[in-house]
Amino acid sequence: MTETATKRTAIVPCANCGKLNRVDVARVDAHPSCGACQAPIHLDAPITLTDANFDKIVSGSEVPVVVDFYADWCGPCKAMVPVFTEFARRQRGQALVAKVDTDRSPAVSARFAIRSIPTLTLMRGGKEVARQVGAVPLAALEQMLQR
Ligand SMILES: [Zn+2]
Repeated sequence: MTETATKRTAIVPCANCGKLNRVDVARVDAHPSCGACQAPIHLDAPITLTDANFDKIVSGSEVPVVVDFYADWCGPCKAMVPVFTEFARRQRGQALVAKVDTDRSPAVSARFAIRSIPTLTLMRGGKEVARQVGAVPLAALEQMLQR
């Protein structure tokens, strides 16, 4: 009983086939696999959100979601990659760490009025609760999650 009450799930896209899987974040070390293609689901790197899956993942996840809006041509975004990957590894099991390529997903980027990249948003229950514009150190990301 207690187990179901404390269970927190996240919606995670399969890196191999794109199917959205509901994953119990407390059990990420139990090697979850995709329900469609059986490929392993990893949560130790940022997951990729797109115009197509953004709402399903952000609204359907019971854990906070931190989203990095970036572009391949953006220097500060590239500098953020190792920081953000480390952040994802540390938040594994507690929050979902995700990225949106603003060139490939113009609709969601427009909806969030992304004018400068990188822009980092903290989403809870499908709503934006905090935003940070510009590259930031790991400590600032962790602080953002306290909000
Ligand atoms: Zn799959």
